[in-house]
Amino acid sequence: MAAAIYAGSFDPITNGHLAIIRSGLIAFDRIIVAVLTNPAKSPLFTVEERIEMIEDEFAEDPRVEADCFDGGLLVEYARSKGVSVVLRGLRAVGDFDSELQMATMNRNLAPDVVTVFIMANDYFFVSSTLIKEVAGLGGDLTGVVPERVHHRLTTKMANRG
Ligand code: ADP
Repeated sequence: MAAAIYAGSFDPITNGHLAIIRSGLIAFDRIIVAVLTNPAKSPLFTVEERIEMIEDEFAEDPRVEADCFDGGLLVEYARSKGVSVVLRGLRAVGDFDSELQMATMNRNLAPDVVTVFIMANDYFFVSSTLIKEVAGLGGDLTGVVPERVHHRLTTKMANRG
């Protein structure tokens, strides 16, 4: 069984993330979507909410599992799961530089773990940060995030005042 870890903040999961996971499932039998529990990033959604949103989207697909990852070394987390592939999405040129650094550092730390990139296509302009900004300004995010996420974003923003 070929498995991959797809780690990120997923604050919240967007259609860009979903596209990467769906493409990843062409190459891998199983994908663990690992939510980074980094409080320093002051996330909008709690870890539990972020995991729930991922599970909601893949309720019918046992090949996708949502988990949390405490922000230690990603390669150690991958090893602890018995997985030797880290899956990443690549958007613009800006992503490339930092992703190359991270993948190379991870290879130095753990030559037995490989990073695999999937190019973004339709959603190359989507980032969770931009989504939150647009949601905060009352913009329509239909088609950019899953409907259930859209609903949660609207509720969260309304409760924030
Ligand atoms: P973001 O940068 O949107 O806050 P994450 O930190 O959750 O996202 O990212 C996890 C992974 O998903 C990273 O490899 C990131 O490059 C990738 N990714 C995020 N958004 C997209 C997108 N719209 N298309 C392709 N890959 C993406």
